[in-house]
Amino acid sequence: MANYDFDIGILGGGAAGLTIASGAAQLGAKTLVVEKDKELGGDCLHFGCVPSKTLIRTAHVYHLMKNGMRFGLPAMEVQPVDFQEISKRIQSVIGTIQKHDSEERFCKLGARVEFGESVFVDEHTIRLKGKEYSSKTWAIATGSSPSIPPVEGLNNTPYITNREIYFLKKLPKSMIVLGAGPIAIEMAQAFNRLGTKVSVIQRGDQILTKEDKDMADQVMNVLNEEGVIFYLNTSVVSTRDAGEESEVVIKTGEGQPVVLRGDIILVAMGRDANLDGLGLKAIGVEFDKRGLKVDRRLRTNQKNIFAAGDVTGEYQFTHAAGYEGGIVLSNAIFHLPRHVDYTFLPWCTYTDPELASIGMNERAATAAGIRYSVWTEEFKDNDRSLAEGEQIGKIKMILDEKEKPIGVQILGSRSGDLVSEWVAILYGGVKLSTLASAVHPYPTLAEINKKVAGTFLSTKLFSDRVRKGLKFFFHLKGRACGIN
Ligand SMILES: Cc1cc2nc3c(=O)[nH]c(=O)nc-3n(C[C@H](O)[C@H](O)[C@H](O)COP(=O)(O)OP(=O)(O)OC[C@H]3O[C@@H](n4cnc5c(N)ncnc54)[C@H](O)[C@@H]3O)c2cc1C
Repeated sequence: MANYDFDIGILGGGAAGLTIASGAAQLGAKTLVVEKDKELGGDCLHFGCVPSKTLIRTAHVYHLMKNGMRFGLPAMEVQPVDFQEISKRIQSVIGTIQKHDSEERFCKLGARVEFGESVFVDEHTIRLKGKEYSSKTWAIATGSSPSIPPVEGLNNTPYITNREIYFLKKLPKSMIVLGAGPIAIEMAQAFNRLGTKVSVIQRGDQILTKEDKDMADQVMNVLNEEGVIFYLNTSVVSTRDAGEESEVVIKTGEGQPVVLRGDIILVAMGRDANLDGLGLKAIGVEFDKRGLKVDRRLRTNQKNIFAAGDVTGEYQFTHAAGYEGGIVLSNAIFHLPRHVDYTFLPWCTYTDPELASIGMNERAATAAGIRYSVWTEEFKDNDRSLAEGEQIGKIKMILDEKEKPIGVQILGSRSGDLVSEWVAILYGGVKLSTLASAVHPYPTLAEINKKVAGTFLSTKLFSDRVRKGLKFFFHLKGRACGIN
């Protein structure tokens, strides 16, 4: 048997790579992690989830300060924000979390960490800074980067992406956002709340295109009311550096050119897998525009090389990367044939209100040819929502023909947390009757989960047939009041 330096080598020290590394090292596998940047943690920690959610929180607090009157508080004059102070807070949160992802911690767990750019020499060996490292198995977990569209003039126009946006020297007066996916929309709302005039350019007729239109439109309406301007059904024709400002020419659905000017352009038009320079073609590993091609065990066509996280182009979330890391661990170290199953993978867009989803929405069910029914409850009928002044939004529960839940979407305050109850219900195959009869604390937003299940069940329980049966068996006297 060939004698390799390591049992498992991992390229990329982000969410997926570090999940594999900590598991493998603690299980006694000789583990190598190679990270291209100067620190571990990946996009989520440095340029993604952590800074964006920190910024969103700051923007939320500022928004509340400006809107205290809605809560019976006196009006106050709020000072403009100093973005450098916000940036400092973001850096401090990153710094705190960075400690969990330090080289020392992984060394203590037993994994060796190396920094630098590496290239595959063959399917078992990489070259890093002139030295070769061989491993029985490899995991490619190199993540993704912002996709830069081939727009005329963009290369010569200043623009930012998620890598720069948290570290601006000052708050831009205006921002043109190219794209309307979760990253674009979260940042559009946060900057608008902080005082930037934000315009969003979107090719299609809705934002957040993975979501059902009714839910995405409600998010758009909230942002629109707060001041964000949306240009739907438009394409970007060209951009230009116009000195103090940047210029974006768009074409509307009717073919009219419109010239927009802004302090800054944010490009948020999807993600490209980080595969450049790895030498994958030379060793015959297959990939396409989306990312690395993998089977359900997350093996590439070179069976000793696995992939996890954004680099596969599948579900580009930190929790998906962690989940896939676990699958790679089982397959690569234990040779246990575990498959990925994304049926109930949840996700959330952290606008205010948040839009969370698990399983199929109407769009996905229709595409799959599934006949479904939709059950809804609105937050305006939830006591806690009213008390909190957060009554926008609703829950949508999708049932298949057999009346089994196949998906849930929640638009509302803290819906990312509320959807977690459905994670347990759907993964665990818990019956809707169990959810409906389980006692939830009052008053909580989570009561909406119980209520939507109850609404569905009550249509069965309180049917004419059941009523007639009960009347017959228990000699019930029926209605005591005439108004129906
Ligand atoms: C603005 C923004 C907000 C987001 N918010 C959320 C959120 O709220 N919730 C959520 O679930 N997800 C969110 N995401 C997505 C999330 O950040 C990613 O899905 C997650 O980071 C993917 O993990 P990963 O391990 O695949 O990649 P990463 O975490 O990016 O790790 C990849 C690592 O590989 C390194 N690397 C790259 N090339 C090489 C190479 N050749 N050799 C060695 N190392 C290399 C990179 O430097 C990086 O450290 C957000 C993303 C963005 C951009």
